[in-house]
Amino acid sequence: MRDALLKIQEEALLKIQETEILEGLEGFRIQYLGKKGELTKLLKEMGKLSAEERPFIGKLANEVKEGIEEAISNRKKILKNFQYQRLIEEEKLDVTVNKPMAKQGHSHPLYQVMEELENLFISMGFSIVEGPEIETVENNFDKLNAPKNHPTRDLSDTFYIDKNLLLRTHTSPVQIRTMMQQKPPIRIISAGRTFRFDDVDDTHSPMFHQMEGLVVDENVTMANLMHTLDSFIKEFFGKEMKTRYRPHYFPFTEPSCEVDVSCFKCKGAGCPDCHDTGWSMELLGCGMVHPNVLENCGIDSKKYSGFAFGMGVDRIAMVKYGIPNIRFLFDNDARFLKQF
Ligand SMILES: [Zn+2]
Repeated sequence: MRDALLKIQEEALLKIQETEILEGLEGFRIQYLGKKGELTKLLKEMGKLSAEERPFIGKLANEVKEGIEEAISNRKKILKNFQYQRLIEEEKLDVTVNKPMAKQGHSHPLYQVMEELENLFISMGFSIVEGPEIETVENNFDKLNAPKNHPTRDLSDTFYIDKNLLLRTHTSPVQIRTMMQQKPPIRIISAGRTFRFDDVDDTHSPMFHQMEGLVVDENVTMANLMHTLDSFIKEFFGKEMKTRYRPHYFPFTEPSCEVDVSCFKCKGAGCPDCHDTGWSMELLGCGMVHPNVLENCGIDSKKYSGFAFGMGVDRIAMVKYGIPNIRFLFDNDARFLKQF
């Protein structure tokens, strides 16, 4: 029996020592020490031993059992450590590898300008309003006092969807929508896409962007209009900029003006860009809201008055960044756009 015990010990220790599989160790424990294990089976035969042999074999059996347990426990530690080392090796991160960063975009120069303009007017107490690009003929023309024979209503100037719907030719219908829903005091800004039947050249595109402002309240005068626009021009383009108001005609305002601003290049001294006039022409259109427009929207024109102004955002972006051709803004060429 002593030999059998020593044989089990030798065999078990060798197997445990040689295994590379952590999970296999539990199998060895069951094989030798489990209820039906080899050592357990052997010990059940102890009863057959003589009284002198029994203590000696019992002690040896205990030593074998403890030896196997200890061997399993030691091997477990070693294999676990191996496994951990392997994991570290496999998942090693080389923090010195220089991976190119993902390219991050930014907003379009046109929308940068629009946002800058909006922020400026918000700081002056205006709120932002939006309107649809597909408008009714009524909001785009009739309510804005554009007579039935006005040339801008012509098929060759406007994209009609059907008899009553069109792609808005200006952002002014947003003024109508606002005045129909909201009673004075009104102080709003609206910007967005507008559409006209224009051939594409350096400064024209059938799709372009406008920004428009409207103020309606009691006792609003031309002086309020001029002060607002002068403050805006100086804040946006620089303190040294001057403005010039020239009489003009718009159906929805009376009186109406076009506003010139000092030449952006020579600041008024005269240069080839401004044909030596010192002025940058027609940056804005503006005027006092026509009483008919107020009445069309249910606002008492005896009690309230208002002013409105509008500008081409594309034009302002071109002037601000020195962009020579409006097409650059819409070509979506990343080489151009990433400059801004
Ligand atoms: Zn100039």
